[in-house]
Amino acid sequence: MKVIFLGNGEAFDERYPNHSHLVLAEKTAIMLDCGDSALRQLWKYTKDHSLIDVLYITHRHSDHLFGVPNLLGRMFEEERKKDLTIICSKQVKADIKRLCQHSYFGIDSYGFKINFVIAEDGGGVEFNELKLSFAKTLHTSYNLAIRIDDGGKAVCYSGDGPFNENTEKLYKDADILMHECYMFDQRIKGHVAAIDVFEMAKRQNVKCLALAHFKRKFNNETRVKVKEASFGTGLNIILPKPLDEYII
Ligand SMILES: [Zn+2]
Repeated sequence: MKVIFLGNGEAFDERYPNHSHLVLAEKTAIMLDCGDSALRQLWKYTKDHSLIDVLYITHRHSDHLFGVPNLLGRMFEEERKKDLTIICSKQVKADIKRLCQHSYFGIDSYGFKINFVIAEDGGGVEFNELKLSFAKTLHTSYNLAIRIDDGGKAVCYSGDGPFNENTEKLYKDADILMHECYMFDQRIKGHVAAIDVFEMAKRQNVKCLALAHFKRKFNNETRVKVKEASFGTGLNIILPKPLDEYII
C-alpha cells in the first residue's frame, strides 16, 4: 500500500490544505476526507478522474466534507463512467445530498453511479481486497476513525478527535497512523495534544505516526516542538507535507 498525504492543515489555515489522504492498494484507491483545499491537491497529484474507487468521510465538518460537490462535479465534467462508492455515517450521507443540491443547482446526476455504504461505530466493510473498520473518536461532531487492512498491512486515519478505548484498539499495530493533532501539550476540547498521541502510539505499537492538523497560530512552533520531542519517544514520527508519499 501507498499513502499520498494530500493535506496537513486545520480548517482555516491558508498555508496548509485540509487534512486528507489518498490510500492506494493494489486494486483499490481510497480518498480519506474531502475538504475543498485538499481536493485541489488531489487534482495536482492525478488527472485520472476514475482513480478513486472509494471516498470515505469521517465527519460532518466543512474541512472534511465540503469538497465533495466539486469532486463529483469535476468527475462529471471529465466524463467519469466508473461507479464511486461513498462510505460515511448516515448523517454525512444526508449532508452530501443536501450539499450537492445547493452547490450546483440543476445537476441531479453525474453520469456515473454513486453507491453509498453506511459506516457505523464498531462496524466493518469489505471492499475488493480491503477490510475497513470504524470506531468513534471523541470529537465535537460524530467522527468515525478508519482502519484499512490489506493482507498483513494496516493504515489508520483518525479524522478529528481524541481516541478512546475503542479507537485505540482500532489503531493497534498499525503500519501507519495519520492522526490529527491541534497543540503540542494543550488539550483543547474535541482535539488531541501531540504528547497524548505519542503515548497512545507507543501503547498500541504504531510503526509510523504521521501528525497533521496543527492549530494555524502555533503551526510552526508545534512542528518544532514535535520534532524535538520525537527523538526521545522511540517512535517513528513524521510531519508530512502535501503530496509526500509513504510506502508500506
Ligand atoms: Zn472536525
